[in-house]
Amino acid sequence: MSFSNLGLSESILKAVDKQGYKTPSPIQQQAIPAILKGKDIMAAAQTGTGKTAGFTLPLLEILSKGPKAKPKQVRTLILTPTRELAAQVEASVIAYAKHLNLYSTVVFGGVKINPQMKRLQRGVDILVATPGRLMDLYQQKAVRFDQLEILVLDEADRMLDMGFIHDIRKIVSYLPEKRQNLMFSATFSKEIRALAKGMINDPVEISVSPRNTTVKSVKQWIHPVDKKQKSALLAHLIEQNQWTQVLVFARTKHGSDRLCRQLNTKRIPAIAIHGNKSQNQRTRALQDFKKGKVQVMVATDIAARGIDIDQLPHVINFDLPNVPEDYVHRIGRTGRAGKSGHAISLVSADEFKQLRDIERLIKQKLDRKLVDGFEPDHDVPVSNDNDKPKKSFKNKPRKSSQKHPQNKKNSRSNKQASAKRPQRKTSTGGNRPPRKSDVRKKNA
Ligand code: AMP
Repeated sequence: MSFSNLGLSESILKAVDKQGYKTPSPIQQQAIPAILKGKDIMAAAQTGTGKTAGFTLPLLEILSKGPKAKPKQVRTLILTPTRELAAQVEASVIAYAKHLNLYSTVVFGGVKINPQMKRLQRGVDILVATPGRLMDLYQQKAVRFDQLEILVLDEADRMLDMGFIHDIRKIVSYLPEKRQNLMFSATFSKEIRALAKGMINDPVEISVSPRNTTVKSVKQWIHPVDKKQKSALLAHLIEQNQWTQVLVFARTKHGSDRLCRQLNTKRIPAIAIHGNKSQNQRTRALQDFKKGKVQVMVATDIAARGIDIDQLPHVINFDLPNVPEDYVHRIGRTGRAGKSGHAISLVSADEFKQLRDIERLIKQKLDRKLVDGFEPDHDVPVSNDNDKPKKSFKNKPRKSSQKHPQNKKNSRSNKQASAKRPQRKTSTGGNRPPRKSDVRKKNA
């Protein structure tokens, strides 16, 4: 299969060739012909599958044949959850539309609105936007949708997680009823299907990476370590292995900043990217990291969502995510496009529950590797496959015989850890279990 079999015109093929893509990825093979036929699609595909080109190439083809956008009008709206993803999608649109006479722009919050209003004035063929800023622009009458032909919802699951459901429904209500809808999501949960209902018509369903399986070329393991030793272990690993480009995930904004300071004092250039940073700071951080000016980028899940960095060799989970699906998203940053990568998690005893949920989700036990000099006093218990998600382990210390063959070494300390395991608090401080939304609000 080559790109020239997909029904794309020469100008687009030339741009694809310039990117160095030889063969269309599975999502591209399936999505491009369906979109060119004018079908609605629902595609289960994560970042790293080539989904952006999967929807951008055919929509450029369609747009190149129609009438140009009139002032303030938009012909294709691409909604994304985060500013970084919006900027990245816009960069792809520019690259693929290089030889076409189409105008695109991107709008997101955190930067001045006036220049965005000016750019919309002339009318745009492709607008990439985050929901909040788009609502502002619409309410200020800076943008109109009478000419809208195609709506793309990129990373729809993440948009729902981030609480954009009302904004999305509102925005959709501004659009003409007759339009083509393309929805991309890492997973198709009940909520996503409910959103799609009544919005997407008779879609072609495409699934390229089965839900919640991790990329095969990523080698994953954990280093059990005490919490207070984590930053020293990270610095040790970076120095020992001479890693030059490391993406580190931390759970909170303050945690990211603190870790950067700790690495910086050890002369390891590190920079944080999270919701408290201005858009310009985030963009600069990402550029510096991509160019190799800083060795380590520490990111929260929301800030890192969708970041596309080619050939990222190492992803480190400094903290395990509270939402197990985020683990899959995180490690999707490495080992992409056939290159192998390493996803290494530093796990302390109090993260047992997160580890158990992740292992359950990815249906595999992660290898455990102890690092000399960093063996934990509080070991991470080995989860039992028969654990029920809701079963409380608080009053029932796990038996030391429930060990995994990969972790025979740890069996002695597992017993200790069960006894020492701290009681977990909810993120709200109350007695109810934490909800996804608590986690999001805290970390965004
Ligand atoms: P995406 O899933 O859209 O975030 O794309 C992930 C990465 O794959 C990006 O760096 C793209 O430039 C790259 N890519 C997209 N399509 C192809 C292809 N057919 N062959 C090789 N790389 C591709």
